[in-house]
Amino acid sequence: MKKQDLKSLSRKELKKWFQEKGYPAYRAEQIFNWIYRNGVEDFTAMKNIPAELRRELEEKAYVNSNLALEEARYAGDGTVKYLWKLEDGHFIESVYLPYPEEKRYSVCISSQVGCPMNCSFCATARGGLERNLTTGEIVDQVLGIQREISGEEYGLPGITNVVFMGMGEPLANLAAVLKAVEILNDEKGFNIGMRRITISTCGLVPEIRKLADMGLQLVLAVSLHAPNNQLRSKLMPINKKYPIEELLDAVEYYINKTGRRVSFEYILIDKVNDFPEQARELADLLQGILCHVNLIPLNPVREFAYERPADDSIDRFREILLDKGIECTVRQERGTGIEAACGQLRHLRNKG
Ligand code: SAH
Repeated sequence: MKKQDLKSLSRKELKKWFQEKGYPAYRAEQIFNWIYRNGVEDFTAMKNIPAELRRELEEKAYVNSNLALEEARYAGDGTVKYLWKLEDGHFIESVYLPYPEEKRYSVCISSQVGCPMNCSFCATARGGLERNLTTGEIVDQVLGIQREISGEEYGLPGITNVVFMGMGEPLANLAAVLKAVEILNDEKGFNIGMRRITISTCGLVPEIRKLADMGLQLVLAVSLHAPNNQLRSKLMPINKKYPIEELLDAVEYYINKTGRRVSFEYILIDKVNDFPEQARELADLLQGILCHVNLIPLNPVREFAYERPADDSIDRFREILLDKGIECTVRQERGTGIEAACGQLRHLRNKG
C-alpha cells in the first residue's frame, strides 16, 4: 500500500481521511497545525497525538519532505536559490526573495518539472516538460524554504508572499496548483492571504476563464512580452493557439468576475521588443484595461542570443507607457548572479 502524502491534502480532505479511518476530525486539525504552524514532520514529535494513532500514521501516511535540498546558492542581495531533488530523481528550483524593509518575504516556486511552453527566451523551456508537480511537492517548496530561513523560532521570519513564477506553467497544472493555493491560504495553516499569492501564466485562455469563474482574490499575472501577434508568436509559440485578442478577452473576463487588477509582464529584449513604437503600440493595446505593467529587463540565458537593453531604452519605454496613462514599474533585478532571476531556472543540473 502506498503511503498517503498528508501535504497533498487540504484541511477538508485531511478531516475526511481521518474520519474514514475512524478518528475524530479534530485530529486532522491537530496534525494540520503541527505541519503548517510548527513545521513538524515527524509524528513522534506530535505530542498531543496519542501514541497508538501516531504508530498507525507511521504505517499509512507521511509528512516528511518530498524534496531533498541539493544545493542553496546565496546572492549578495539576500536572494537564495534552492535546488531540490525530487523522489524520482528530477530537480526543481525555487527562490527566496526577502524585502525586510517592507516586511515582505516572498518565495517564487515551481509548478512543473520543466515546461511545455517553449518560450524562446526562457531557460526552463530547454528540455521541455518532464512532468507536473504534485500538490505536496508544490507546498513543500514553501515549507522547505520556511524551514531554511527560520531563525531561533520556526516561522520567523514568516513567508508572506508566494509567486508561481518558477519553473513551469501553473495553469497547465491547474488542479494541483489550486489545491496548493488552498492549503497555503488556509487560515489554520500557513495563512498566506489570497492577495499575496500570484499566478503567472503565458496565456492559457480556457484556464484563465476557469480561474475567473472561481472568483479567487489572487493576483493574475500574464506574460505578454509583445504588443502584436506577429512578434508574440515568434517569441511565444502559445500565441499561435491563443492570440492576443483572445487573451485580452479572457483577461477582461477575469477582471469583471473578480474585480481584481491584472498584471502584465513584459520582458524588455534589446532591439526585439523595446522600440518606442512598440511601447506606443503596447499602450494602445492595453488602453482601458484595469492593469499594471511589470517591465522586466531580460535576464540573460547562456544559450540564447537575446540581450538586455541599455538603461536609457528601458527608461524611455517606461516613460512612453506612463505618458499614455499605463501604470507600470520596472522590476527590480534580484538574484541574477546566481541564475535565480526570471527565466533562469532549469531542471537540468548546472555543471560548474
Ligand atoms: N509559465 C509562467 C510562469 C513562469 S515564468 C509564465 O509564463 O508566466 C515567470 C516570468 O519570467 C514570466 O513572465 C516569463 O516570461 C519571465 N521570463 C522568462 N524568461 C525570462 C528571461 N530570460 N528574462 C526575464 N524574464 C523571463
